[in-house]
Amino acid sequence: MLSEAQMYKALVAKDVSFEGSFFAAVKTTGIFCRPTCRARKPKKENVEFYKTTREAILHGYRPCKVCNPLELPNQTPEYIKLLLHELGSDPSLKFKDWDLRQKGVDPSKIRRWFLQHHGITFHAYQRMHRINSAFKKIRDGMDITNTAFDVGYESLSGFNDSFKSIFGVSLF
Ligand SMILES: [Zn+2]
Repeated sequence: MLSEAQMYKALVAKDVSFEGSFFAAVKTTGIFCRPTCRARKPKKENVEFYKTTREAILHGYRPCKVCNPLELPNQTPEYIKLLLHELGSDPSLKFKDWDLRQKGVDPSKIRRWFLQHHGITFHAYQRMHRINSAFKKIRDGMDITNTAFDVGYESLSGFNDSFKSIFGVSLF
């Protein structure tokens, strides 16, 4: 079992031997990283450590665009990298099975890949990513109505229901 002090030390040192053993989530940015991320390292009091990408996502974090923690070195198909990149730039995107097929992607393949590597389906990931982006915007002071439409919800009540199912609290 790694202690927080060990993980923080590895994070600052960008120690490659810790790759895959933990993920570092930064409270101030809402982003989570691999230990070896090249981005500037956060202060210790702003970091939360998670063993899996799933835990970080379920705690409201989005993947870092510098170290791409959802991609596995040399094991991530190109089409998945592209989809993750698109979602990273615009969390309001929703790739349904139909959209995936239009892109020439087999929905069952991507579902399996996500489940196998991140413990959630691709659709669940997209939903979490949207709500996590919204969570950060609201925390930064953006109003709830604008946030809901900004991240692609069609109604405020739908947004509130999703938020409640994930964070356990209502927005209003
Ligand atoms: Zn990073």
